[in-house]
Amino acid sequence: MKNFWCEVYLDKIEHNLNLIKKFTEDKKIIAVVKGNAYGLGIEEITEFLDPMVDFFAVADMEEAKRVQSSKEILLLSPLVTLDDFNTDMNNIIYTLDSEELLSQLDKDIEVKAHIYVDTGMNRMGIKPEKLDEMIELIEKEFNNITIDGIYTHLHNTKNKKYTLKQIEKFKKCTEKYIGTIPHIHCLNSSGTLKEEYRALSSFTNTVRTGNLLYGYDGLSQGFKKAYGYFAKPVNKYFVKKGEYIGYGCAAKAKKDMHIGILGFGNIEHFGFNKDVKHNIFYDLLKVVYNHMKFRPVLFTEGRGVKILGRVNMNTTLIDLTGASLDNMIRVDISPILADSLVKKLYIKQGDEV
Ligand SMILES: *Cc1c(COP(=O)(O)O)cnc(C)c1O
Repeated sequence: MKNFWCEVYLDKIEHNLNLIKKFTEDKKIIAVVKGNAYGLGIEEITEFLDPMVDFFAVADMEEAKRVQSSKEILLLSPLVTLDDFNTDMNNIIYTLDSEELLSQLDKDIEVKAHIYVDTGMNRMGIKPEKLDEMIELIEKEFNNITIDGIYTHLHNTKNKKYTLKQIEKFKKCTEKYIGTIPHIHCLNSSGTLKEEYRALSSFTNTVRTGNLLYGYDGLSQGFKKAYGYFAKPVNKYFVKKGEYIGYGCAAKAKKDMHIGILGFGNIEHFGFNKDVKHNIFYDLLKVVYNHMKFRPVLFTEGRGVKILGRVNMNTTLIDLTGASLDNMIRVDISPILADSLVKKLYIKQGDEV
């Protein structure tokens, strides 16, 4: 790829973190950095967040090894397996999310754990009515296990009635452990955003947060998008009115024009949404719709930039009319979708470009 990069605004992540603290009245913060910190780069993000959060959470041991912090790292449900316990890392907090896993554990290994309670997601977990039994069993038979927390996941936060019931269920089975088990948590990003969920979760003392930290959510409540993709045209080329442009002659110059050559394409995971095959009726509707409404994914100086024809493997052709090689082009793509190899620039307050 050429002239294509992702800017990550660390000061905005800090702003988001402070807002989460404010929203949750200073509950402890577990920064969720799974999925390469939601695409933003797990090493750099954990190094930056290290002094500001209480601990981290990842999805598997490979991610845990990349965390640049000596703080504790919670290995989240549901990917924990027996071999994860054979590690030389000494700052892992394991999730215990099945009775079977517990029964197989080596009683000679010291383990710190959070118990995951299944309040309705039905992925993994201990049923609420089995929690007491599990805790009793651990206290009686597993001197090697320290229960450091209990949590559940709010998986349907658009449904208020459902989620409130879920929090209620969690509260009922964990309330008695407040004060004896250090970390009780259920709020994630979308849970944190809703006042009713926060209120009902006031018995908890910790939050797990990913989306809000990076500004994927909560923009209407003051959270800030912490990233942006940008490109500059690598070359330009003059095309006469009536000539075809690109693969499959998929575009035609409506006037004498300059086209711009961008140095990224399908291999950076850009431009795929166009190629999904549906049926002829869908395609027809789409053609009509796209004809009526231009929905750009590239922008310069606040206006949309037209992509000409199909996005190629390493290049994308654009209409350069009214712009030049010096124009910076904003690329509307999510870090979760974009290739993780796209170069990232980490920018702190003051040196934002
Ligand atoms: C991913 C994940 C989170 C973080 O969710 P966000 O909505 O990004 O805050 C919290 N808890 C669990 C169990 C997760 O898997």
